[in-house]
Amino acid sequence: MTGRKGKPPPIIEDVSNASLQLRCPNPQCGHEFFKKGGWLEKHKVFGCPKCGQTISFNDEQLTSLFSEHVKNVRDMINRMRGK
Ligand SMILES: [Zn+2]
Repeated sequence: MTGRKGKPPPIIEDVSNASLQLRCPNPQCGHEFFKKGGWLEKHKVFGCPKCGQTISFNDEQLTSLFSEHVKNVRDMINRMRGK
């Protein structure tokens, strides 16, 4: 038991299996690609699969990437429900 702010909402678990859209930080190439949320948690520093530009995420960026994804999913669900 680590006792860090309770259990995460279940939608976060979905995010580990979800494909997150990422953009290469190199403005010259602007490559876009997808990685699984769970993969990103393990590989916070990696090369752009297309040009090799180093891409790194810290926990904060990862969290905001995930929460953005969760928000998009919620918006999509709401749209499907006609809200
Ligand atoms: Zn690139």
